[in-house]
Amino acid sequence: MTVVLRSPQEFKQWRKKQSGSVGFVPTMGALHSGHEQLLKTARAENNIVVLSIFVNPTQFNDPKDFEKYPITWDADLKMAQNNKVDAIFYPHAPDMYPDNYRYKVTENEYSKTLDGAHRPGHFDGVLSVVMKLFNVVSPTKAYFGEKDFQQMRLIQGMVESFFMNLEIVPVATVRESDGLAKSSRNVRLTQEQRALAPAIYKAITTSKTADEAAQALSAQGFKVDYVTDIDNRRYVAAFLGEVRLIDNVQI
Ligand code: AMP
Repeated sequence: MTVVLRSPQEFKQWRKKQSGSVGFVPTMGALHSGHEQLLKTARAENNIVVLSIFVNPTQFNDPKDFEKYPITWDADLKMAQNNKVDAIFYPHAPDMYPDNYRYKVTENEYSKTLDGAHRPGHFDGVLSVVMKLFNVVSPTKAYFGEKDFQQMRLIQGMVESFFMNLEIVPVATVRESDGLAKSSRNVRLTQEQRALAPAIYKAITTSKTADEAAQALSAQGFKVDYVTDIDNRRYVAAFLGEVRLIDNVQI
């Protein structure tokens, strides 16, 4: 049975009654097989599995992106049930921000690079909401996708810096058969854009340099935010129309 809990207080009451390890998968919903891989990994490693679904307003620097973020509650619930999720935490925004976001978590170096350089305030929103979610859920382990590699690393750093009592488990990026990283935003692509989108993965895996990959994408009509190599990893962010796609690979 999958229970759905809507407020932090309600969730904490439920949490007190659980025993054994708790594996936690935080998401913004519109679940796909990438999220499912996190749920399966959490299920294999823990007594209890918790999924959260919260489209976090503070991490959207672009209001249009927030408004258009897909919501697919019925399918999400089904996926949770199929994967034997014990509880879904599905809060309302005002309940997550009783302070109206007066308090926030900020990292001042790595979060200002790559995606952070192009999305002002984004990682403050991410770190703040993840801190809140960890405090509500009290997980033993929390699962994050390598698709959002910078996010995963920043959360690992936060956990170390604040001596938080949980382990962050990275999970490899799940891709479509044509290489495109699965993303909730993919459903917003037109048919034509969807056909073009795998060029991102192709460019970052086959180009010799980051610049070469950026040029290849620009030539195909992408608006490239960045292609950057750091520590044996190549990161990319590029727009197709209004949809911003990100990816990264080890090089
Ligand atoms: P989101 O709902 O997009 O915020 O993602 C929730 C979690 O799922 C994050 O830890 C993401 O990194 C992870 N995730 C999203 N897409 C993928 C994917 N294609 N492969 C693996 N993990 C993913």
